[in-house]
Amino acid sequence: MGNAVLSVADVQKNFAGLRALSDIDLQIEEGKTHAIIGPNGAGKSTLLNVCVGRLAPDQGAVVFHGQVITGKKPHEINQLGIARVFQTPEIFPDLTLLQNVMAPAYARRDGPIRLNLLTRLDDDKDVRLEAEHILEDVGLAAKRHDEASALSRGDKRRLELAMCLVQHPKLLLLDEPTAGMSRLDTNRTIDLLKRIKERGMTKVIIEHDMHVVFSLADKVSVLAQGRIIAEGTPDEVRADPKVQEAYLGG
Ligand code: ADP
Ligand code: MG
Repeated sequence: MGNAVLSVADVQKNFAGLRALSDIDLQIEEGKTHAIIGPNGAGKSTLLNVCVGRLAPDQGAVVFHGQVITGKKPHEINQLGIARVFQTPEIFPDLTLLQNVMAPAYARRDGPIRLNLLTRLDDDKDVRLEAEHILEDVGLAAKRHDEASALSRGDKRRLELAMCLVQHPKLLLLDEPTAGMSRLDTNRTIDLLKRIKERGMTKVIIEHDMHVVFSLADKVSVLAQGRIIAEGTPDEVRADPKVQEAYLGG
């Protein structure tokens, strides 16, 4: 199995008669950026949700650093070191950006956070300094005292990424991190992801736009109709006629 951080073994998932995932086997290697691409409805988000414990597979297992995590709750999986950015940003709209980034840092240290603690989030100086540093990193430092609800869609996604980075995850899962972004925001996000890559964090990026990930990915798995139809380097995958066909709706 080599140095796989995450392994997905023989996973299957059905939704009321629809087979969303079939025979999924996947190895995510340490320090690599692994892209999972495929047309809309291919099963990409379902696969991510199975990996983070939001959905239980009908068959198969997910193994993280040698430990079976299938059946664990999402927050338990998060505590083990898997952070994720969902397709729809999940932030605290009424809190400031700084508080939003401090919240997961506390959660990591103290366990799942209780909402009544959120108003006291500014207390810890070390956590605050780190949160400020990370907001700087994602280009949101100037807005750190703004309410999160006031952000543009692109900024909300960058905030959610900051909320993941503050957890120092062993594995970061991103579901369409540039979805709905302007070209400028998309390019900024790609640059940010490249910088994270240089730090050696293991990442899985889900994308339906195959061009977005080709400059980032070490390895690409192509999902179509719930199955992995091709796997390889970006160049190998790009040249694969099966992949072209899947994207052209063949
Ligand atoms: P992708 O992320 O690749 O666009 P999804 O994983 O969201 O695809 O969806 C895969 C398939 O499963 C689609 O046909 C979708 O309609 C279906 N699906 C996803 N989630 C559910 C659900 N909770 N209930 C029923 N069907 C679902
Ligand atoms: Mg999706």
